[in-house]
Amino acid sequence: FSNVSRVKVGPATETADLRRRVKEDTHPNKVDLGAGAYRTDEGKPWVLPMVKTVEVQMAADMTLNHEYLPVAGLPAFRTAASALILGKDNPAILENRLEGIQVQGGTGGVRLAAEFLKRNFGSDIVYVSKPTWGNHKTVFIHAGFSQIKEYRYWDAKNLGVDFEGLKEDLQKAQEGACVILHAVAHNPTGNDPTMDQWSQIADIIGARKLFPLFDCAYQGFAGGDLEADAQVVRYFVKRGFELFIAQSFSKNFGLYNERVGNLCIVTKTPDVIPQIRSQMEIIARTMWSTTSHHGARVVATILGNPAYFEEWKAQVATMANRIKEMRQMMFNKLRQKKVPGSWNHILQQIGMFSFTGLTPDQSRVMVEKHHVYMLLNGRINMAGLTTKNVDYVVDAIQDAIS
Ligand code: PMP
Repeated sequence: FSNVSRVKVGPATETADLRRRVKEDTHPNKVDLGAGAYRTDEGKPWVLPMVKTVEVQMAADMTLNHEYLPVAGLPAFRTAASALILGKDNPAILENRLEGIQVQGGTGGVRLAAEFLKRNFGSDIVYVSKPTWGNHKTVFIHAGFSQIKEYRYWDAKNLGVDFEGLKEDLQKAQEGACVILHAVAHNPTGNDPTMDQWSQIADIIGARKLFPLFDCAYQGFAGGDLEADAQVVRYFVKRGFELFIAQSFSKNFGLYNERVGNLCIVTKTPDVIPQIRSQMEIIARTMWSTTSHHGARVVATILGNPAYFEEWKAQVATMANRIKEMRQMMFNKLRQKKVPGSWNHILQQIGMFSFTGLTPDQSRVMVEKHHVYMLLNGRINMAGLTTKNVDYVVDAIQDAIS
């Protein structure tokens, strides 16, 4: 009992706190731009029709059961997921120097990677972009990393990537450390380096002997093109890097609560794969024993059927295009209403998020006064905008920055 009374409330997660406040808020014009999930123009979650079709088929299939999966997950899913990110003819696949481990969403992939690196690679230092997705640092801290270091990423003055700062910081990075890179559609800034800049980043990572962990939560969301969104990862593989990719299928399949992820492992030679898989399985066994089947089966079925695949691709493009339309509409309204600023960055940014450039004080006005829920760092979810609420949001921005 004495131990129970010693437990303290920990720090709140900003996104969870926002979610609770949105739910409790009864204001008729409230807008949720905080949640990291796609919404339709009616502001509703979207079950992709292709996903629904497969789920209906699965429900009617009396041969399916709920047997445990292997610790490493559903083989058909792991193979299809790895092929989606690398391309099925990738030399890493053809030469058997790749493995996929099914994990609990993108978060599970990052966590499994961190746990594995800590135990097997002899470094407990990780570099993350400043800023980055809120959970990167905490996952690595909880996996026992002693140092979570930041490399500069966002140039708040010019509202773009601080490439010189990024290079300088990575050039000074500790040899052997892990570096987390966002494969596409950087969260929270919506700004990615150019391919030329990526090639320079690869040079530095090679020279400093850093270990790249790609976080890939938004394949298809940048511009609706799955291949284009995979090009950075494929480039690193082509350059011969050994690396991990934490793939999430939460956004591009709309399977958020099914926790579908794949930790893709690429090595230089096939002989090391069984050892790595074995160590990954030992860790996975202690964290979740085996993963859930439903979402992975849906993804494997769709990726494995050419007709379904085409239909799903079109639905991913629908989501990406709606987000692009919202960017354009918000930009037009900001300009029409002569809200101070060029707002070009809203159009230049990609993926689900925009880093508006609003300061924490201005973001607070959005939340407290206007009931427009967003992160205090100025990040908004573009998919939370609709043709009906964009005027209200732009008026709120005008008020907040005046
Ligand atoms: N990485 C990034 C960059 C993300 O934005 C997210 C989701 N917000 C995740 C990982 C986690 O994805 P999942 O929900 O599949 O765990």
